[in-house]
Amino acid sequence: MKADSLLIRYAELSVKGKNRKKFESRLEKNVRKKLAVWPEVTTSRSFGRLYVHLNGAPRLEVESALQDVFGIASFSPVMRTELDEEAVFSAADLMTKEMLPGGGTIKVSVRRIEKQFPVGSQEMNQRIGSAVLRNNPSCTVDVHQPDLELKVEIRTDGIYVSGGQKPGLGGLPVGTSGRGMLLLSGGIDSPVAGYYAMKRGLTLDAVHFHSPPYTNDRALQKVKDLARRLAAYGVGVRLHIVPFTACQLAIHQQVPDNCEITVMRRFMLRMAEAIAAQQDIKALLTGESLGQVASQTIDSMYAINQVTTMPLLRPLITMDKMEVIAQAERIGTYATSILPFEDCCTLFLASDVKTRPNAEKVAYYESFLPIQELVDEAVENAETMYIQAEQPADEADDLL
Ligand code: ATP
Ligand code: MG
Repeated sequence: MKADSLLIRYAELSVKGKNRKKFESRLEKNVRKKLAVWPEVTTSRSFGRLYVHLNGAPRLEVESALQDVFGIASFSPVMRTELDEEAVFSAADLMTKEMLPGGGTIKVSVRRIEKQFPVGSQEMNQRIGSAVLRNNPSCTVDVHQPDLELKVEIRTDGIYVSGGQKPGLGGLPVGTSGRGMLLLSGGIDSPVAGYYAMKRGLTLDAVHFHSPPYTNDRALQKVKDLARRLAAYGVGVRLHIVPFTACQLAIHQQVPDNCEITVMRRFMLRMAEAIAAQQDIKALLTGESLGQVASQTIDSMYAINQVTTMPLLRPLITMDKMEVIAQAERIGTYATSILPFEDCCTLFLASDVKTRPNAEKVAYYESFLPIQELVDEAVENAETMYIQAEQPADEADDLL
């Protein structure tokens, strides 16, 4: 017998009443989707717990996939036995051998939920501990900082022995908070903003503005790669690619240089909002962080915000660049983000961008442009694709 299942724990405090059912079934669905590369893996739910049954799939690889799924507080390998003392001793022994092959310190924690079980939890703690130590001479007990904590739960349907707990990503399962439209550039910040939005349970659509021939296909590929990386944390990302050249050239002709970026952002928001509305999405997201650049001051944000009534979420608003970079590295987007391809925002940009644009003036300059036409035309010509997480290398090979 080996630890052939994983017990998944989630942050129960945030999950109450009717939401709990929604949370649980969504988490199960997301876990299945993430583990679909191992068709032998199954899941089950009982007594408010979610279990993953390996059925021969490699445990460590499955564990590392689970560490990409939001809504999981922690998980542990688990074995279920009959309500029988000898069976528990043997499960605890096997779990110790599997988790601590070279020996180490252990602690046993018993919870007796099934009160009919004839032995009390303190007594069971001692009996299991002695049995494990007897069979594993290189192990000792350390109740403060054990290498392995064996958690034993005596329940009505059996006894569960778990050990080797690992932390999950936390957050809420993607899909339990509705959908959001991320403005995804090829830069460092917006993919990280998307990650944090997913962490709070949003399913993502992403919109990218490109300006061919000033921006090229490699810049687009970069954005697709970033979306693919984000999809690994969720259930896929619908990406809308919007042609922005006509709008950008019109802005460049009509608007004073130092207000161009503000007007550009306002157009981006209008277009993002129009696509979001078509998709019944009710929030927009950007990678802005307060004071990071001239277009991300409070005055700029005030002037930019005027054009939309949708909630505009900025998950990174209070983060330092260094924190964002560290997170980008952790989630695997950094290397792609720093590839040197032009983004439409860097084209024709003035060096003296206003840090305190005047919202009324900006609206005045803009009023000489055919606003609705520019928005409609770009939105009509947007190209939409559904981006899924990458398959593991060996799976991809099979398809060749
Ligand atoms: P990023 O690293 O995300 O590009 P940044 O610090 O370079 O951020 P800006 O270029 O000022 O910031 O852009 C601010 C935000 O506007 C971005 O985080 C992104 O949400 C959005 N944005 C900018 N350019 C584009 C684009 N070409 N397509 C879609 N969204 C964009
Ligand atoms: Mg940028």
